[in-house]
Amino acid sequence: MNVVEAQGLHTFYGKSHILHSVSLHVREGEIVALLGRNGAGKTTTLRSLMGLTRAREGVVHIMGKVTTAWSPYRIAALGVGYVPEGRRVFQNLSVEENLKVPLAGSGPWTLERVYKLFPRLKERCMNKGRQLSGGEQEMLAIARALMLNPKLLLLDEPSQGLAPLLVQEVFEVIAAMRREGISVLLVEQNVRAAVEIADSACVLDDGRVVFQGAVKEFASDEARMRSLAGAS
Ligand code: ATP
Repeated sequence: MNVVEAQGLHTFYGKSHILHSVSLHVREGEIVALLGRNGAGKTTTLRSLMGLTRAREGVVHIMGKVTTAWSPYRIAALGVGYVPEGRRVFQNLSVEENLKVPLAGSGPWTLERVYKLFPRLKERCMNKGRQLSGGEQEMLAIARALMLNPKLLLLDEPSQGLAPLLVQEVFEVIAAMRREGISVLLVEQNVRAAVEIADSACVLDDGRVVFQGAVKEFASDEARMRSLAGAS
């Protein structure tokens, strides 16, 4: 089953035509890496799926429902967590308060379970958001999304600005979420790390999908990976 299926999305910011007939899908339980150079339209794609910047043309199916005209709130209520770029955690609230902000729905993710997956957050549960390192804030942003018991997570560049060791930690957490049955659409600049954990890749270039398929197929073609996704 596809948890996300987008067909022919055209998205604009004012008069700027950003997405040109973008189609992609995410199957249940898989990690899809959404790749492409700066400005390729990755964030705009996530925003279009989430209903934050509505596509002017095209259809979005999420969890089998046609959500094209739905509000972000209604889409979130279907079980879609969105972690935007720049880890917007509440700076003046403690870690624990941040985690309690979402009104936890009924589901498997409790504070205890989240702390088990993120032991570092447990250690720092009384610290304010602003006292955390970049990596810890990213963990907190992901952990907060988990508290809503999502079936699907849209993650926008979770490794941005993190030291290599922390990048590894964030990616381990993403892999752990897949083991819990959560599907992930992962926007990444860190192409090599992303293709290591993803099942499939979707590559955007100038607002167009230029590849969607098994990650192995994409990663086996070094030259294409470098030219399309900017992998170094
Ligand atoms: P990055 O890795 O730099 O975040 P991206 O692939 O996520 O890139 P988008 O953020 O989706 O790309 O941007 C796609 C294009 O849309 C870019 O040319 C960008 O300048 C433009 N754009 C993004 N946000 C807006 C906006 N609010 N108004 C007008 N143009 C925008």
